[in-house]
Amino acid sequence: MILYTVTGKAGDEYFLDISKSGDISGKNMYVNMTNRCPCSCVFCLRQTKKMMEDNSLWLKDGEPSVEEVLKLCSEYDLNIINELVFCGFGEPMERFDDVCRIIDALREDYPCLKVRINTSGLANLIYGKDITPQLEGRADTISVSLNAPDAEEYYQLTRSSFGIKSYDAIKEFAFLAKRYVPNVVMTVVDGVMSEEKIEKCREICDELGVSLRVRPFEIPQK
Ligand code: SF4
Repeated sequence: MILYTVTGKAGDEYFLDISKSGDISGKNMYVNMTNRCPCSCVFCLRQTKKMMEDNSLWLKDGEPSVEEVLKLCSEYDLNIINELVFCGFGEPMERFDDVCRIIDALREDYPCLKVRINTSGLANLIYGKDITPQLEGRADTISVSLNAPDAEEYYQLTRSSFGIKSYDAIKEFAFLAKRYVPNVVMTVVDGVMSEEKIEKCREICDELGVSLRVRPFEIPQK
């Protein structure tokens, strides 16, 4: 499933292929670009082989090309959607150049298209450089999973392949992204963290000058 909407229903029906989504006016359209992810979060359904095979967001036929995504998008009027969101069963920033190409192409037809990228915030470690300037004029919102109030807990939860330095890196990413993206949000999941820890996350976001969103549990988490 490459383009999808979310229904809010529990279980398998949470994600709905765009072709089965009916009237998409006012809805968010999600773009699922990759299965790759530098994390291995303990709470992620990717961790079970069965879920990987059964889940409709697992790209069984490999990653879609830019052309394939654009062709699928061309079947819909993006003027009527709320937001185009890059988010799937992997980390969309693993394909940042392709994400940029898709946004640039769509903006030619839809200059007012609102774009959000849901991410782990590890892109600068993935590429070994600061890629946030490339977000300018492309992303309206960047949503970064903060997940935890400190580096140790973050690493225990995400098992990031970049190790313990990942937490500082995602905070820095959010801080740097602020220069180029109007709305930078960090998120934690509701119900899995104590009020005290959420408050600590709020303080971190305040220091970084970004907003904290406490969001409902869902997969993908980003
Ligand atoms: S929850 Fe998101 S960041 Fe974590 S392993 Fe799953 S896809 Fe990757």
